[in-house]
This record gives sequence, C-alpha cells and structure tokens, in this order.
Amino acid sequence: MENVDIKNKMSKRGNTYREYLMNGFSVLSLELIQNIELLTGREDIQYTTMINWSGIFNKNVVYHKRRWCPLCLESFQKDLGIVYEPLIWSISDIKICDIHQITLKEYCPSCGEKLAYIHSNLVVGYCQHCFQWLGESGSYDNKISLKGQNFILENYKELLEVAPALYSFPNRDYIGDFLNKLREQLEFDSIRQFSIFLGVNYSGLYYWLNKERSPDPEKLLHLAQKLGCTIYEIISNEDLYLKVEVDDFVRERQVSRKSVKEIENYLREAAYTNSVPKSLKKVCKEGGFSRTVAQQNYPYLTQLIMDNSALYRKNSFTQRKKDIENTLKEILDQEIPKSLKKNLDDYGISVRTAQKYHPKLCQMIIKRYKLYIAEEKIKRIKGYEDEIKGIILDLHRKDIYPSIYKIKKVISKPNIFLESHFESYRKQILKSLGYKL
Ligand SMILES: [Zn+2]
Ligand SMILES: [Zn+2]
Repeated sequence: MENVDIKNKMSKRGNTYREYLMNGFSVLSLELIQNIELLTGREDIQYTTMINWSGIFNKNVVYHKRRWCPLCLESFQKDLGIVYEPLIWSISDIKICDIHQITLKEYCPSCGEKLAYIHSNLVVGYCQHCFQWLGESGSYDNKISLKGQNFILENYKELLEVAPALYSFPNRDYIGDFLNKLREQLEFDSIRQFSIFLGVNYSGLYYWLNKERSPDPEKLLHLAQKLGCTIYEIISNEDLYLKVEVDDFVRERQVSRKSVKEIENYLREAAYTNSVPKSLKKVCKEGGFSRTVAQQNYPYLTQLIMDNSALYRKNSFTQRKKDIENTLKEILDQEIPKSLKKNLDDYGISVRTAQKYHPKLCQMIIKRYKLYIAEEKIKRIKGYEDEIKGIILDLHRKDIYPSIYKIKKVISKPNIFLESHFESYRKQILKSLGYKL
C-alpha cells in the first residue's frame, strides 16, 4: 500500500472527511496503521490507536480534534526529554487531566484554532498553524474535582495500558455473548427483570442480547459500574458473575440447599488447598451456599479462607512492586543511560506505573540520564575544539592562514561552524597565536 492511496481516499471525501478516524477504528485507520508499520518496521503502532477495541465500542470513542494538558506537555519535555500526546487525551469522554486536575485544552492559545490530527506540518506538542509550543509551566488555581471522571478515566486507562500485552481482542459479538452468559449465570429467566437489574431499557438490552446492536461507550461504562467492575474486567474475568451482587435485588432465586456437613467439607478443602486462594465470597458462590450460613457455622474455617486470600493479594502486590524495583535498578546499572520512558518501553512497563510504585528510583534514572546528556554535550564540544585546535596549529606551522575555509577542508564535520561557539573558539586560538583579527 502506498501513502498516495491514503491521500487519495482522504481528498475524495473532501473537507467533510473527519480526521479523527485516524486514532479511532475505521478502515482508514487500519490501512494507515499497516502502512506506518510497514514504513517504520515497528509492530506497535496499533497501540497508539483505539483500533484493538473496535469490537466492544459501537461508535468512535475518539474526539475529532487534538486535546492536550499544557502542564503535562511541559513536564514531558522537561523531565522525560521526550514529548508525546497520550492517546487518553483523545478519548471523547475524557475531559480532564487526572494528574493536574485541569480541563484538557482544545484551542491553540496563540491563534485560537482547533487542531486536527492529520496535518502535513504537525509536530507533536506544537500548534500546526502558528507553531506555538502548547506546553505551559506554572500552576492553575482552580483545580477540577475528579469526581465523575474518575471511573471513566480508570476504565480507559486500563484498556490502553493492557492492550500491548494482549494476544487477542474482543470481536463484535463479544458483548452480546457476555450478556447472554451473565444472564444465565445470574439465573435471570426474564429479559425484563435482567434489564431492570442492569438499569438499562428493555429494548436496548433485547438488541444487545441478539447481537443486533452493541452498547454505546456510555452504556458500556454504566454496565461496568452496575456490575462493580471495569470494561476490561468484562472481557477478561471469566468469573465476573461471582462478584455481582444480586442478593438485594428482589426476585425468587433458586438456592440449592446444602447440608452443613457438605459445607464444612467444601470450606475445609478451600482453606487447606495448595492452589491460588479464592475469596470467601467466591468459595461460597462456587459451593452454592450463603456466606452468612458458612460464617455462622464455621467461623474458624471461614476466617482462615479470608486470611489466605488477603495474604495472597498482598503478596502479589508486593511481588509486582519488587519486580518493578529490580527492573529500575537494572536500568540504573546500564552503562549508557537512556531516558526513563525509552527504558520502560523496553520492559513493557508504563511510566505512570513505575512512578506509582517507585517515584524515587524513577527520579534517579531521570537525573542520571540528564547528567549523561550534559556530559555528552561537553565531550562533544571538547572533541571538536581539540580537532579545530590541531588543524589551526598545523596550518600555522605551514604558514597558512587558518581561515574557516581552510579548516573546513580538513575537519571531520565542516558544518560545525554553523554553531557560533566554534567560530569564537577559532578566533580565540588565532589571537593566542598572535593573529590580529
Ligand atoms: Zn496534566
Ligand atoms: Zn496556533
């Protein structure tokens, strides 16, 4: 496929063509990705778009123009040494930056334009019309409360964060299949009751179950909230139904009655098993008896199950923290430092995650990299200075006037004199040799 192809497609649709489809999931977006991956030899370009999630969203979730947090842009440049515009900013439902708690900007502060995603002059972090840098330092007084946005932010962040590690993504049938399975697992015979329980309208649910339509992004978020999970959990957690509270929902439920002896055996097995400990709630659901009955009859066994699962959860958190710590220490040991973001990309860890667990180590890596860059700059200057000095002395000995022209003829990088520093350095040496300037 050629670039020209895409250009043609875009110009055919004329001015009405919506560029935002590029970060979204249209056919064009797919072509563009394949094209860019082909040109760059990278296979991760797809993760800079929402394409992988097209199966679960029925319409474009991506906003039609660029949006940005000026404080983030500034700090990317200052602290990470690399500027990028995170995909999270382009999600329609996301209105604020959760780090700085300010509204995302969508108008250039200098020329007042809204900025399209595709533009021949586009430089990340700058306005493509007037080349204004979009970052800002300083602080904003009126911070916005994250309330209401928090759940939305968490959901999209999670989807973006897990995408690179997944082998497959849900297809168009996924949500329909999920709802059918859930309805069966929660034992709802009537669709109407299921719709009341989910808090969605009947006909909508009917179409979703029959896979004739899929829920809007807002509806999907509503479902997740109702089920006490995230969108990602909907597609990843096989046992999600075990988490769902139906107890306070008024309806007749067929609860299988187990004998107290059966319950004891079940609890005992769960408490002393060697495999991954389950929560008490899950054990009871799987066993088909109520938690209250279990706790009343077997306080010791149920407590043991709860302790096991709490300890397990704590340990896996500690393990993750330890793993990240080791990775960061490995990074600190590298002979030639790279930026924090580049390093973490190699290990598949996000900067946010690393900073959440080990802010100090991250800071050390950033500092070390800055220092390295500064030293490299000095080395580079010193290297060229030595070369210039050597050439001047050589010409001087041969009684040739060390003009820039003469030096340029022999120096390894003639363009170096575009930097005024080296021209001043040449003059300084000439002076010390007694030349009048
Ligand atoms: Zn920000
Ligand atoms: Zn502008």
